[in-house]
Amino acid sequence: MADAFDEDCDYLFKAVLIGDSGVGKSNLLSRFAKDEFRLDSKPTIGVEFAYRNVKVSEKLIKAQIWDTAGQERFRAITSSYYRGALGALLVYDITRRATFESVKKWLRELRQFGSSDMVVILLGNKLDLGHSREVSQEEGNHLAEEEGLCFMETSALEKLNVEEAFLLMITKIHEITSQKSL
Ligand code: GDP
Repeated sequence: MADAFDEDCDYLFKAVLIGDSGVGKSNLLSRFAKDEFRLDSKPTIGVEFAYRNVKVSEKLIKAQIWDTAGQERFRAITSSYYRGALGALLVYDITRRATFESVKKWLRELRQFGSSDMVVILLGNKLDLGHSREVSQEEGNHLAEEEGLCFMETSALEKLNVEEAFLLMITKIHEITSQKSL
């Protein structure tokens, strides 16, 4: 079945979610892939991934998005997680400054293990909790500019910018891969 399906799509892109534990990576993914949100924390530990098909410029793209599923707590993310990934969503929680301060550490890891032309989108998640904000939008923007990343604030809970963030990443990957194949 999977093979038959793969033949139907024009491209298969792998992308990864990274960022500190508890920033909302799994919920961003389940919102994008299944339009679901979970209030409880995820029960299992280990890498998980989900697929969703999207159309970009008349091409059918199968996006395979990997989630660390708790492994980041033990710093057990290995090079195989990043292998073949064309994009990354690097997530922090706007209500927890420490998760923003970790962004540079995640970028170092990404640049060590990931490919140099990977599309990286910085996401400040939990936008619905604006009253408890510890990181301003300007700071997020500034860091993204400094590091050459795209930036968005999202809410997996309230479905704000989630679709947009994934689609931005997928569209940018598509731009890069189609330029390469010219
Ligand atoms: P992960 O460890 O980065 O995968 O984070 P999870 O997706 O497991 O989310 C951690 C906690 O934050 C859970 O209790 C979620 O319900 C909550 N959460 C995730 N995204 C949001 C969001 O956009 N807004 C709010 N208010 N809570 C969120």
